[in-house]
Amino acid sequence: MTAYDPCAHCEEMMQPYLDRVLTDAERAEAETHLDECSYCRKRYHFEERLRQFVRQAVQQEAMPVELKTKLAGLRTPLQ
Ligand SMILES: [Zn+2]
Repeated sequence: MTAYDPCAHCEEMMQPYLDRVLTDAERAEAETHLDECSYCRKRYHFEERLRQFVRQAVQQEAMPVELKTKLAGLRTPLQ
């Protein structure tokens, strides 16, 4: 038996949160946790920056395959 881990739950919600596909209740839950937890806040800001970077890179030019692979490898940098 593992205890309920709010950070693991938060991590599960991270991508849907960034995709803005959570329900209001789920989003409120995620935001409450991000408010309290510096670890998840760091993760969240990283993911947010990564997404902005990818979006800009895509706009500027077609991304080389190696870079896409590299970025995919950065998905969980704090583990
Ligand atoms: Zn957390």
